[in-house]
Amino acid sequence: MEKTEELKNKAKELGIILIKITDTEDISFTSESIPDYFKKFIPKSAIVAIQNYNFDEVSPSPLYGINAPFVRSNYYKELKKKLEKLSKYIKNNYNGNSYISCNGSIREKILARKAGIGSYGKNQIISNEKYGSYIIIGLIITDIEFEKDRPSEMFDPFCKNCNLCVKHCPTGVINLDGTFTKEKCLQYMGQNAELKEEQIKFWDNRFYGCEICQKVCPKNKNIPRRTDFPENGKIGSSVYLPEIIFLSDDEIKQKFRGSQLALSWVEPEALIKNALIALSKTEEGKKFVVEFIENGRENMRDIAEKILLF
Ligand code: SF4
Ligand code: SF4
Repeated sequence: MEKTEELKNKAKELGIILIKITDTEDISFTSESIPDYFKKFIPKSAIVAIQNYNFDEVSPSPLYGINAPFVRSNYYKELKKKLEKLSKYIKNNYNGNSYISCNGSIREKILARKAGIGSYGKNQIISNEKYGSYIIIGLIITDIEFEKDRPSEMFDPFCKNCNLCVKHCPTGVINLDGTFTKEKCLQYMGQNAELKEEQIKFWDNRFYGCEICQKVCPKNKNIPRRTDFPENGKIGSSVYLPEIIFLSDDEIKQKFRGSQLALSWVEPEALIKNALIALSKTEEGKKFVVEFIENGRENMRDIAEKILLF
């Protein structure tokens, strides 16, 4: 189908590293409310796009907490801007309607697998043959019919004889049979304000996120390395922790405005909790936890005490 090829060429021209297309039968939403715009047309194609990101190593420094690579810039915003241009192209050339979802209300991984982007690893992350799992996924749902790509296998055959992520996951979330207890994942614990002992035990010097299961994955060896950080929502590879723990919710929102840490499901108090745990790991950092117990926000002083005494 000529127009599919034209669309893929246009995506390339816009700097999108890969798009694949699938049908819209398996669309499901992350919340019960279906986006209004989506009700205005009959979806015929799901265009799945990926963007790779920089995953450079960071040298630890006692008062700085490390950000997982996927949040160091707002890669979703970067991809969304490109998808907006692609959506405009669909409008101008085929008079098509589109709905864009980038870390939004549509479950992206289901469509990515079906479009042939890649398969699920035991760590529940989609991995692409060329770019590995250091990718984010965005979508355009449109009422234009494009030629569909072949689906990837549901589970990555490579995982069959590999259990590296199962072995190295600090909290033991990943099971041998491929099941996964989300609530025990450090990534999940780091976005919720509730304090869990397992987080204190395994959090180390992180500020946000965990990537161990990606770092150890053999499918991420020899993938193309991206070396730049887009300016969109850039927070860098680490954050000065003593500053964070004394900020108000509004100041935290302001500091991380436009970044992935400003998303609605990341609780400001979770970020303070993360910073306190990371500070408690070094003698230098502990002094700030003590100061927080004396002068920090009152409703979190008992959490800080628990962290310090753990
Ligand atoms: S580390 Fe091994 S088992 Fe885990 S996702 Fe990667 S290939 Fe699969
Ligand atoms: S992100 Fe970390 S805690 Fe979560 S599954 Fe991967 S290695 Fe385990």
